[in-house]
Amino acid sequence: MQKAVLKLGGGDMATMFDDVDVKCPFFLSSSKRKISCEGITDDCTTTLYFSSQEKRNEQRRIFCDDNYVCCEIYRMLREKYEED
Ligand code: SF4
Repeated sequence: MQKAVLKLGGGDMATMFDDVDVKCPFFLSSSKRKISCEGITDDCTTTLYFSSQEKRNEQRRIFCDDNYVCCEIYRMLREKYEED
């Protein structure tokens, strides 16, 4: 099935309609080859840039949409909220 891209204010910022399937609380947005997540500080974001749309879709399907607790980025970002 072909996915449609929704542009948010032009530029590089875009999101995909399949973003509604994401369960990870750190997810921000995505495009055909990127996934943007919360940053390690409040002043930045984390962007994953994949070599292909298939690799991006694989990350989304396996981690963002389902088993996000096993994602290495999720584990890194979770530490931000853990108490010492
Ligand atoms: S599962 Fe990982 S890559 Fe996906 S939104 Fe969460 S932290 Fe980002």
